[in-house]
Amino acid sequence: MKRPPLNRRLAEFGTTIFAEMSALAVSTGSVNLGQGFPDTDGPDRIAEAAVRAIRDGRGNQYPPGPGVPELRTAVTDHQRERYGLRYDPDTEVLVTAGATEAIAAALLGLVEPGDEVIALEPYYDSYAACVAMAGGTRVPVTLRPRGGRFVLDLDELRDAVTDRTRLILLNTPHNPTGTVLTREELAAIAALAVERDLLVVTDEVYEHLVFDDSAHLPIATFPGMRERTVTISSAGKTFSFTGWKVGWATGAPELIAAVRSAKQYLTYVSSGPFQYAIAEALRLPETYFTGLRDDLRAKRDLLADGLAGAGFEVFRPQGTYFVTADIRPLGEHDGIAFCRALPGRCGVVAIPHAVFYDHREQGLPFVRFAFCKRAEVLQEAVKRLVAR
Ligand SMILES: *Cc1c(COP(=O)(O)O)cnc(C)c1O
Repeated sequence: MKRPPLNRRLAEFGTTIFAEMSALAVSTGSVNLGQGFPDTDGPDRIAEAAVRAIRDGRGNQYPPGPGVPELRTAVTDHQRERYGLRYDPDTEVLVTAGATEAIAAALLGLVEPGDEVIALEPYYDSYAACVAMAGGTRVPVTLRPRGGRFVLDLDELRDAVTDRTRLILLNTPHNPTGTVLTREELAAIAALAVERDLLVVTDEVYEHLVFDDSAHLPIATFPGMRERTVTISSAGKTFSFTGWKVGWATGAPELIAAVRSAKQYLTYVSSGPFQYAIAEALRLPETYFTGLRDDLRAKRDLLADGLAGAGFEVFRPQGTYFVTADIRPLGEHDGIAFCRALPGRCGVVAIPHAVFYDHREQGLPFVRFAFCKRAEVLQEAVKRLVAR
C-alpha cells in the first residue's frame, strides 16, 4: 500500500536543483556555472577581522538575539548613508542566518494560514517552500522577456491582488533574470501596496551588484512604504563570503518584532564572530564596492559575449551575477533536458529557469549561467560551449 507523503505541505519540494546539478558537475568534471557562489573569497582584511574576533573572544558564545550592536549600527548607517533610510538599531534591525533565514522568518512571522503571497516568477527557490511552511498560498506573477529584459506587467500584478493577499514578496536586483526594477515600476508597486494595504517583503541581496545605468532603489524609500516593508539583505553576495551566513532585516518595530518572534525559534542566533567582521565590511571604502561591481561587469560581458558567440540569445543582466540565455536559437526548446545533457555533451553546468516557475512552460527555453567565477573559468566554459 502506498503511504501518503510524510509532509504534505513540503511534498512538492524534492531535492533542490542545485544539489542535482552540482553532483552532475562533479561526476562529469564539468565547469560549474550552476550555483551562484564566487570561486574567490572576499577581502583578506575582513577574513582577518573574523579571525581576530574569534581570538579576542568576541561572538564565540551566543550573541544577543537581535545581533551584535556593532553590526546592527553598521547596517543602519549603511541604509541611511546609501538610501536615506533611517532605522533604530535597537528596534528596527534583526541579524539573521543569511538572507535565507530572514526570508523564512519574515514569511513565518507575517503570513497566516490561507493568506496569499504574491511573488515575481521566476522566483528564488526558497520562497515557495517558505510560503508553504507558513501555510500560505503563493500567487506568482510572471516576468516576461521584452526588449532584452524580463519585465513585470503591472496590470497583471494588480489583477493578482485579492482580498486574501497579505504581502508582496519582491526581489530586486532579481535572481535569476538580472532585472533591476526601475523607479517607475517600484513606484507603481508601492502605490498598489498602499492602496490595498499590503505588506512588502523585499529581498535585496544583490543591492551592490548593479551595472551600467541601472540603480538599486529600495522600495522602502517610496511614499507610504517604510511602515509596511521588511527589507532583507546579506553579506554573502556583497562580500563574497557566502558560507558565513550573515543576513539582516530592517523595518518598522512591529514588523521586525514579528520576524524576530519566528527567528528566535529557528536558529535563535548565529555567526557570532562573523557578525563583527561584517560590521567592518559594511564600512569598507567606496572603492571596494565599485571595484566589486567593475570586476563583475567585466565578467558579465565576457560570459554574455561568449554565450552569444556560441549561438544563444542572451539577456545581459542589469544586476546580480547571472546571465539568462534562450536556447531556442540552438534548435533546442526544453531547458531542463538541455541542462541535464549539457555536462555530458560539453562539460558545462547551467540551471534551467523552469524550476523557478509554477508556469513551467513560461520558463522552459531559458537557462541561467553564473558569472561570479574567475575569468579563466568563464573562458574555459565559453570554449566548451562553442565546441558543443
Ligand atoms: C543567494 C540568495 C539568497 C540567500 O542569501 P544568504 O545570505 O546566503 O542566505 C537570498 N535571495 C536571493 C535572491 C539569493 O540569490
